[in-house]
Amino acid sequence: MTQEEARQRMDELQRVLKRYADAYYNQDQPLVEDHIYDEKYAELQALEEQYPMLVDSQSITKKIGGSVQSGFQKVQHDIPMLSLGDVFSKEELHQFISRLEENYGELTYTCELKIDGLAISVKYENGKFIQGATRGDGYVGENITANLRTIDTLPKRLDMPITLEARGECYMPKASFVALNEEREANGEMPFANPRNAAAGSLRQLDSQVTKKRQLSYFLYQLPMISDREVNTQSETLETLHSLGFLVNPTYRICHNFEEIESYIDEYTEKRASLPYDIDGIVVKVNDKAIQEEIGYTVKVPKWAIAYKFPAEEVETVIRDIEWTVGRTGVVTPTAVMDTVTLAGTAVSRASLHNPDYILDKDIRLNDHVMLHKAGDIIPEVGHVLLDKRSELSKPYVMPTHCPVCHQSLVHLEDEVALRCINPMCEAQLQEGVIHFASRNAMNIVGLGPRIIRQLFDQSLIHDVADLYHLTEEALMTLDKVKEKTAQNILNAIDQSRSRSLEYLLFGLGIQHVGAKAARLLAEQFGTMENIQHATREDIEAIDSIGEKIADSVVTYFTSESVQQLIEELQNANVNMVYTGQRRTVEQKSSLKSSPLFEKTVVLTGKLQSMSRQKAKEYIEELGGKVTSSVSKKTDIVIVGEEAGSKLTKAESLGITIWKEEMLQEVMRNINNYKEEN
Ligand code: NAD
Repeated sequence: MTQEEARQRMDELQRVLKRYADAYYNQDQPLVEDHIYDEKYAELQALEEQYPMLVDSQSITKKIGGSVQSGFQKVQHDIPMLSLGDVFSKEELHQFISRLEENYGELTYTCELKIDGLAISVKYENGKFIQGATRGDGYVGENITANLRTIDTLPKRLDMPITLEARGECYMPKASFVALNEEREANGEMPFANPRNAAAGSLRQLDSQVTKKRQLSYFLYQLPMISDREVNTQSETLETLHSLGFLVNPTYRICHNFEEIESYIDEYTEKRASLPYDIDGIVVKVNDKAIQEEIGYTVKVPKWAIAYKFPAEEVETVIRDIEWTVGRTGVVTPTAVMDTVTLAGTAVSRASLHNPDYILDKDIRLNDHVMLHKAGDIIPEVGHVLLDKRSELSKPYVMPTHCPVCHQSLVHLEDEVALRCINPMCEAQLQEGVIHFASRNAMNIVGLGPRIIRQLFDQSLIHDVADLYHLTEEALMTLDKVKEKTAQNILNAIDQSRSRSLEYLLFGLGIQHVGAKAARLLAEQFGTMENIQHATREDIEAIDSIGEKIADSVVTYFTSESVQQLIEELQNANVNMVYTGQRRTVEQKSSLKSSPLFEKTVVLTGKLQSMSRQKAKEYIEELGGKVTSSVSKKTDIVIVGEEAGSKLTKAESLGITIWKEEMLQEVMRNINNYKEEN
């Protein structure tokens, strides 16, 4: 390669890598798989080493990925949040260890799992959680305090009045990732490529209620600053974080040589698939912090640590067909049917292709040879097409224009990547709707599974959920493998479902965007189906955690004549339409409206004598108020304990109502009396 050719190739790699990095870090939607990015990155690094005179001062190899998304406040990192150097083979790792030991003698290491999430920093002042941030470009990150607060396992207050900054990884457990992608596909949205991007997309939300729903978790592994104590090694760091009440991954191990490190790697390569979270490698760190400082840092990575990345497990197969299936909400999803191959220990012959854009972007065609991998270690996914194996006669895949079941035209709704069948009478949707209605979290009709439901439709014994309540033993016994006992059990289960509380019926109806939680909130708030049918958008949006999207969907749903008829039929079949749960009744809730804290923004300051801050916050929220941490014009009430400082002064200067702690106690007493009377 001539110098000019090298320069051109380096420019090209910079351009491509910057585009990939932007999609990955800033949009949370990668354009290519990690190993493709890594290969190009390694090629650029090698060229930069060979041609130091051509290195661009703004090279991607000198930058820590990510930037601050608009809408978030910026957080300056006092100590930069660096990335990690990486190796892709044990040989390279061995060289890394040997080089270190040549210069620093025999060393002790900690081996940790490399959690595939995104880096976070959390700060505590006198034991109180005050700030959470993303890594951003390593020097300036995004303020995600409100979002991190929604993670229950992250302490909001430590037992000791310690001031510290800790860092770690926020991640989405595999189970939440699978559930989230299923929900996104059903809603016609683009699924996340892997749990890492799902976690990043969930944490960088301007609305923390969205983050809350995403069930994120975290592990901490670094303590750049802590008051009042000395921490001398990485393993002490992990122990300290654990003792302070943070989640620390328990699998770390102290290793004394390469062989011990290698056996840790082998062990977790084996265990990787069975872990409840995704890992993309092993991090090896020099244990002694004094030696770490001696070894030092580059602008991008610590020189005393390295990430061993697992090789991407990929296999080649051939796409034989693309099947389209209609889901409950009418979304039509393509599935690749492929020659069976073994991938990460399991036989795979089908993989979701998600939506038409996915097929078009990757230009997937019938009879293409493709590389298959497991996204997030769990879901088989088509990576890329092997273009050199494509037949010259191959033609681009033609998308369906009509529903494969009811044959009506498919539509592409605005803002959606999915194709949809919008025929409400489409049999596939009706069938899926009944399967959902009978499922455990909805009407829980035990024994009435997809196999029986499909037969009931095939034999025209039912057309919608209301028909279930008119089934007879004779009708059920005409089905394959259904004898008298099974038929009776199913009828009993159908009968029992009549008395399920309203939220299960609401959820079972499959109203778009109304999941189990929203259904419960609606049922709890309105008490009866009739009230919900008559509720306005404003009434519904007034419920905390229910937004415009759900409110719109509920109102639109109940204005449909066929829905009104269905509800009437269910009512006539004696299906319960009332909330019978144990939580606050509608009357009690409306009494809260008279509570002086209802819909008020409250700030707590100073030391409370009669209860902890957490308890006070819970009470205020129970009485319909919202607790925030800083005083502004939007604050309605400031409750002051002892030794209240600047917040009290600020509240006074803004003319905000100030309560002493006794006033809060008084309000709480009144509401408790009310609860007892009711
Ligand atoms: P990285 O993710 O490879 O490694 C550094 C990060 O590892 C740290 O910042 C930390 O967040 C995390 N980590 C997890 N567990 C840890 C532990 N126990 N100890 C210390 N750190 C731990 O580096 P990066 O700079 O965040 O990202 C680079 C990687 O991202 C690339 O190698 C590539 O795989 C991927 N990427 C992919 C694309 C794409 O288009 N697919 C684009 C850009 C980057």
